[in-house]
Amino acid sequence: MRRSETTLFTSREPGKQESETARRLFRAGLVRQFGSGLYGFTPTGERVRQEVIDHVETEMRRIGARRVSLPQLNYRAIWEESGRWENFDGEMFTFENREGKLMCLAPSHEEGIVHLVEGTIRSYEDLPATFYQIGAKHRDDHARSGLLRTKEFTMKDAYSLHRTEKSLAEHYKRFREAYVRIFDALGIEFAIAEAENTVMGESRSEEFFALAEAGTADIRWCTEDDCRFGATSESPASDLEAGDSCPECGGTLGAGEGIEIGHIFELGTRYSEPMGLAIDTAEGNRQDVLMASYGIGIERLIYALVEQHSDENGCRWSADGSGVVAPYAASIIPLEYDDELAAVADYLYEDCGPERTLLFDDPDQSIGERFAESDLLGIPKKIIIGNEFRESGEVELETRDGETEYVTVDSVPERI
Ligand SMILES: [Zn+2]
Repeated sequence: MRRSETTLFTSREPGKQESETARRLFRAGLVRQFGSGLYGFTPTGERVRQEVIDHVETEMRRIGARRVSLPQLNYRAIWEESGRWENFDGEMFTFENREGKLMCLAPSHEEGIVHLVEGTIRSYEDLPATFYQIGAKHRDDHARSGLLRTKEFTMKDAYSLHRTEKSLAEHYKRFREAYVRIFDALGIEFAIAEAENTVMGESRSEEFFALAEAGTADIRWCTEDDCRFGATSESPASDLEAGDSCPECGGTLGAGEGIEIGHIFELGTRYSEPMGLAIDTAEGNRQDVLMASYGIGIERLIYALVEQHSDENGCRWSADGSGVVAPYAASIIPLEYDDELAAVADYLYEDCGPERTLLFDDPDQSIGERFAESDLLGIPKKIIIGNEFRESGEVELETRDGETEYVTVDSVPERI
């Protein structure tokens, strides 16, 4: 994008949000608040959000999940069938429509998935089946810091349906591994904690927590690099403390807070039984379908990324890892947008890709302002066209971490 043709929502004001991470999200201009627990994404924020979604979706496709789209508005009936109309007590947005029928904004879609496959999945030969969607969820939760707990949020929710416990366990493992790949590739430091039964009614579940200064739960986690062991006050290993040995690898446990970014559930027949989702077995019997569900909170993930990848100057997407979700791969910063420097800037802009780069072509901005804005957005690389170019024909490549090198103009695109 050309800086002169786009609207950036960056701000140098310190901001009034309660956490440093939330202030950085606002200063980088990724989000705007629309009242307690409600946020909108700006063009820059939406680029980041879409990158995160694409990344999550790629892994879902890789493990064979099929995308669906279920209505966010639900009638009461399916929630009565599952017995959850009352369960979400106060957290579900409910209302009457114009015909006086009770409706809700779905806080989750286990019921929706059962309804989707009813009448189609009828035999053991129709299983396993795996579906996912990426869309809005609504929960009338107590709003918290920035994007941590909101009343409307984006979720990748997936559901797998099975004939046997073995098949369910295999898919659960497949999703668990996909989640590890997703968070690893994004450069998130995280731990996995076993959780106790919740409103989802599962037989087993695990939560993925990004380590944070201020999060959604107190956690203990293993400090060894390749161990993901974690525990919360609701885990079976809830009595572990900082300094204790990790039950998985013997390493030392640390303690702090975590942001819940993912949650996977073995549901068993929790939904299929009350809702009547059964199949004919090979032996000619009827059997309730086994289910599991898997969620990733997209905004939580963005919050965790900024929490772990930012500094006092703004976001700090690294050149790889977290950099895959950076709003732009590189900023092109001419010392002044004029004559020869403008011509080279335009050339690089076209060659590196107008969609992937931000060209600082606004004549009213000083070089200092351009640098500050690029850092606030966390753009991983700056291509600086300055005095060196006038003297030797080389441009300066500087990472967000301040490492610099001088390279020829023609070698820039392959380095971005
Ligand atoms: Zn460990």
